[in-house]
Amino acid sequence: MVRVRFAPSPTGLLHVGGLRSALYNYLFARHHGGQCILRIEDTDQTRYVEGAEQNIIEMFRWAGIEFDEGPHVGGSFGPYRQSERTELYRHHAQVLIERGTAYYAFDTSEEIERMRERQQKAGIAPKYDRTSMRNQFTLGPEETQRLLAEGAEHTIRLFIPLTGETRTTDIVRGESVFANRTIDDQILLKSDGFPTYHLANIVDDHLMGITHVIRAEEWLPSLPKHVMLYDAFGWEKPQFAHLPLLLSRERKKLSKRDGDVSVLDYKDKGYLPEALVNFVALLGWNPTADREIFTMEEMVAMFDLEKVNKAGAIFDVDKLNWMNGMYLRQLPAERLGDELMPLLQQAGFDGVERAYATAVLNLVKERINFVSDLPTFANYMFGPVKNFDQEYAEKHWKPETTGQIAEIANRLEGVSDADWNTTSIEAVIRAYAEELGASAGKLIHPLRYAITGKRVGAGMFETMEVLGKAESLQRLQAQAAAR
Ligand code: GLU
Repeated sequence: MVRVRFAPSPTGLLHVGGLRSALYNYLFARHHGGQCILRIEDTDQTRYVEGAEQNIIEMFRWAGIEFDEGPHVGGSFGPYRQSERTELYRHHAQVLIERGTAYYAFDTSEEIERMRERQQKAGIAPKYDRTSMRNQFTLGPEETQRLLAEGAEHTIRLFIPLTGETRTTDIVRGESVFANRTIDDQILLKSDGFPTYHLANIVDDHLMGITHVIRAEEWLPSLPKHVMLYDAFGWEKPQFAHLPLLLSRERKKLSKRDGDVSVLDYKDKGYLPEALVNFVALLGWNPTADREIFTMEEMVAMFDLEKVNKAGAIFDVDKLNWMNGMYLRQLPAERLGDELMPLLQQAGFDGVERAYATAVLNLVKERINFVSDLPTFANYMFGPVKNFDQEYAEKHWKPETTGQIAEIANRLEGVSDADWNTTSIEAVIRAYAEELGASAGKLIHPLRYAITGKRVGAGMFETMEVLGKAESLQRLQAQAAAR
C-alpha cells in the first residue's frame, strides 16, 4: 500500500513550491490507490509562525487537495504534529544509543565554534570531529555516565563511519555515491531535548509507514544522512523522489523578489484553484506533449514519478494567466458562480442574483482572464453606466442617431418579456437597419454606447438579453432624451 506525506514546517504561508510537492504526493497516492498524509513539522520552535498551519490547511482545501490523515482529519498514525510526538523522538534517540549507532556529545557551542574556526583555517570542510571533541568516545564510559547523571547538557549525534561509502537512490535523480567521511555526525537530539528535523522526519516516516518520500530538491543534500539514519535503526528505507527547483524567469531560484510566492497571494488575486493546480502540476512534469489543460482526475490517471524532470522548472506567470483564462472559459457556470458571488459583494454590488451574475460572466468570459475582473469589466451590468466614452459620442453620435435610438427603443417595446432574447432583439434591429438602408453595424455602435458606455464589448444582442428588457429600454430612452 502506497503511503506518502507532505510534511511542511509551519514557518509561514504555504508556498507555491509546497503546493507542487503536496500535489505530486496527492497525485501519486491517488494514482496508486494509496494514502496521502499531512504532517506538521513544528519542532523548531524558533521558526514557528502563528496561523501558518491553519493557512496550510485552508489553502489545500481551496486547491482541492485532500489528505487522508493529518492534524485536521485525524487518522490512526497520529498525532500528526511533531510537537506532540517529542517523547517518541527521545525514545528513538535512545534506541540508537543502545544500538551503538548514535552517541552522546557534551561540547558547548563555544567549543563547536572553535572547532569550526580551526577547520576553516586548515581549509577543511566543516564537520564534527569525533576524535578530538568532548563525546563519549573521547571521555570514556565512566565520565560519560557521570556527566549524564549530573545532568550535563548534551546532544545525541549520529555515528557515521569514517570509511566506506553510502549509496542513495532517487527516482528522479538516479543513484549517487557519497564517501562516508564527507557526511557529518548529524545532531539528532538537541541539548534542549528536542529532535532535529532529520531525526523527527525519519522516525515519523518510519512509524507512519511512508513508502515514498516525494519532496523538493533542496532536501537532496540531506539524503545520505537520512539513508544512514535508516541503516542506523536497521529500518527499511522508503523510496525517494526529489522534485526539481522552481525557477524565476531569470532562471534563479524562485524567491519573494520575483513576485507572489504564497498560494494565498494567488487566491487573493482571483486565480481559480483549478488553474493554479494545473499550472503547478506542470512545473516538472508533462504527461503529454500535445496539451496542457488537465483535470485533477486526468492528472491522477496519468501521474508517473518516473516522468518527473531533473531540470529546474520556470514559474511563468504569463502562462498561469493564460491558463486561468482557459479555465474561466471552460468551467461550469455553477462553479464560477461560487467564485463570483463574494467578489460582487466586495465590489459593492449587493443583491445580485446568482443566475444573473453567471449569465453576465458567460457573456464576457472570452474577454477577461480572471473572474475578479468581472465586477470592474462589466460594472455596467450591475448598476447604471458610470463612464460614458465621451470621445466616442463627440465623434460618432450624429444628429440622426438620437432619433434612431429612440425608434429602436420603440420597436423593442413591442417584443414581449417572454420573447426577450438575442434572436428577437437581433431581428428587430436588422429589420430596422434594412429599412434605413444602413448596415446593422451602424446601429450597433450607438446602441452599445447607450447600453454600456463603451465602444467595444461582448455581443450587443446577448448583452441586451441578459440585461433585460426594462433596463435596456430605459438606457436607450435615457440616451435618446439626453442628446
Ligand atoms: N519539514 C520539511 C519541510 O519543511 C520536510 C522536508 C521533507 O519532506 O522531508 O520542507
